[in-house]
Amino acid sequence: MPKADESNTLHEDAISELERDALTWTKLSIAKLICSVKCDEHGRVAEIACEGRSFEELSFYVSGCCDESEAAAKGKLR
Ligand SMILES: [Zn+2]
Repeated sequence: MPKADESNTLHEDAISELERDALTWTKLSIAKLICSVKCDEHGRVAEIACEGRSFEELSFYVSGCCDESEAAAKGKLR
């Protein structure tokens, strides 16, 4: 049934678009969270890099000026 196939494809496109939006939103809000972490000792904010095009692939790399600020930033992700 070509009609059913068609609607299936449309449905999947809508899902992936939704996931992409959700993914972008998630990355932004996490980046915002990490940037709010400021080191008391060095006065620098933590940085984060996000990778992955789906939630399954998503990974974060947090970096800070020292172990303490990195730990504080990572703590925000939990
Ligand atoms: Zn520091």
